[in-house]
Amino acid sequence: MSTQDTTITIDASAAVAHPAYTPTPSIPRLLAELVGEEFFARYAAIRGDAEAFHPDYLADRRRTALLLRAVIADLVALADPADAHHGAQAAAAANAVRRADGERLLPARDARSWLRNQYQDYLEDDSSAHPPNCPGGCRGTGEVIKPIVWQDDGVPLHAEPVGCLRGEADDPHAGDCLRCFGTGRLYDADRGEYSLCYTYTPDPAYKPAPPSSPTFAADEPPF
Ligand SMILES: [Zn+2]
Ligand SMILES: [Zn+2]
Repeated sequence: MSTQDTTITIDASAAVAHPAYTPTPSIPRLLAELVGEEFFARYAAIRGDAEAFHPDYLADRRRTALLLRAVIADLVALADPADAHHGAQAAAAANAVRRADGERLLPARDARSWLRNQYQDYLEDDSSAHPPNCPGGCRGTGEVIKPIVWQDDGVPLHAEPVGCLRGEADDPHAGDCLRCFGTGRLYDADRGEYSLCYTYTPDPAYKPAPPSSPTFAADEPPF
């Protein structure tokens, strides 16, 4: 733990927005996963040689895409439980996964509850995390070994399995991150080490420096 961590207080009520999912998935990351799965399934079809792929591979890609889009819809619906419209859409998206599985359709509440269990299974199932040819280099495990601690001079000190991002860059932390101040890394002064800042934690009271306004003479056009 870094020295910075010990001085941070975070509003706990904001962190437990969606108790149906623990931890709450990142919708941007879910979208990135969804686009990847859709692409792999459709690319094979569009190339016209889908038969060259193992049927289980393509079926996994299609089902995962349906699952992820339903989870996104469920998260949106959970953000406003009083909105029956979003709840119905989430349930219909969950039932689209069941239809793909050849299962009978469920009433809305049951369909969404089933969906959350399916998503948990998806997270825990190492074999179906990512395709074997994942561009992130995880070989289908959904995890890659990456440095998470660096020396002062940037030399990696320690690496661990972290979630595979399919070869994409992780989403950045802006300068209002209470933990890393936009660097993406936490400094431990006692150990003289940097570690990865995992959670972007925006400071609600952050005030950016005012933009430097160009100075023009009063009678001069600005261009
Ligand atoms: Zn991967
Ligand atoms: Zn940060």
